[in-house]
Amino acid sequence: MASDFFIGESLVGDGNAAPMSAASSFAMTVTESFGTEGILRELMTRDELLDLFRRSGALLEGHFRLSSGLHSPGYLQCALVLQHPRHAEALGAALAERTHRLRPTVVMSPALGGVVIGQEVGRGLGVRAIFAERQDGALTLRRGFMLGENDRVLVVEDVLTTGGSTRETIQVARASGAHVVGAASIVDRSGAPAGSDRTIALGVPFVSLLEIELPTHEPDRCPLCAQGLPVVKPGSRPVAT
Ligand code: ZN
Repeated sequence: MASDFFIGESLVGDGNAAPMSAASSFAMTVTESFGTEGILRELMTRDELLDLFRRSGALLEGHFRLSSGLHSPGYLQCALVLQHPRHAEALGAALAERTHRLRPTVVMSPALGGVVIGQEVGRGLGVRAIFAERQDGALTLRRGFMLGENDRVLVVEDVLTTGGSTRETIQVARASGAHVVGAASIVDRSGAPAGSDRTIALGVPFVSLLEIELPTHEPDRCPLCAQGLPVVKPGSRPVAT
């Protein structure tokens, strides 16, 4: 069940995040995605996951200019968690725990974002991990990676935003004759209601570890800009505008 959290003054940063103020607080919805069974409920709760993301600098709260040009009170960069192999392995194990009942025989990810976590989910499941990459704009299996009609594919991404890359990866797997049994991501920031709606949208069962809703704003309509808060490009010092 979803529970609402407010991230703002009450949370203490670790020096990595931008300075907090009441104005920079925003609503974050996190869904406990773990089943009631399973040891991972004890190993990694949603609070521990959020803490891991914050400590890694993968989740920042403040006022950011994203690469899209939009402004947001939050910034998410999964690669900053995944750069630590132990964390990547733990997140992969958590997703493997949640997807093994689908009996996948191979994990397939869209490059580049899905490659590291795909490898770790494959490790957790004890199956091979392959990736599709863009060639002339279209996702393609290269490097001799093969799928056949006996393969049961689990598509794995780091972050599901629109679901576009996951859907495209599903299509590549199906075009190879394989059966797609499900999809998974570490973070679902699609803003869609949890559970079945996402499954219906993708056409396959979908699992994520964390749902995080991060609003974005056009710069000229940004409430944080309107409050005069300096905007930060993630990974750098505050800049004017
Ligand atoms: Zn702004």
